[in-house]
Amino acid sequence: MSKSMHLVCPSCGAINRVPTERLGEGPVCGKCRQPLMPGEPVEIGAAQLARAIARSDVPMVVDFWAPWCGPCRTMAPEFARAAAQMKGRALFLKCNTEEHPQAGRAHQVQSIPLLCLFAGGREVDRLMGARPASAITGWVTSHL
Ligand SMILES: [Zn+2]
Repeated sequence: MSKSMHLVCPSCGAINRVPTERLGEGPVCGKCRQPLMPGEPVEIGAAQLARAIARSDVPMVVDFWAPWCGPCRTMAPEFARAAAQMKGRALFLKCNTEEHPQAGRAHQVQSIPLLCLFAGGREVDRLMGARPASAITGWVTSHL
């Protein structure tokens, strides 16, 4: 018997069951055929995020950001690099707090950029301010 994990599709929100040993093989969503572990940040809205936190068996890193925030734009390529380096181990999501203020309120986002790490249905840790890719991957890895 192989173990499987629940993955919430970052594109359509469908819950997928994927055998654990196939996580690194680029699994796609059974509903919309988009990658479940894309290795690049995916934009997500408030409802989708809440669902993903509740149902995902894979650790998720969420970058709370806004278009007017300079440090957020500075960190974006670093966050993308970290997502590529951690492909298959963690899902990297971005939540635009200007478009989705309810998500910011739900997670007490006081200042941005803010990285939140979710696992097992709850927030595990948060990291404030812009960080280089190495600091992001080091931080996530320390919690896996
Ligand atoms: Zn999907």
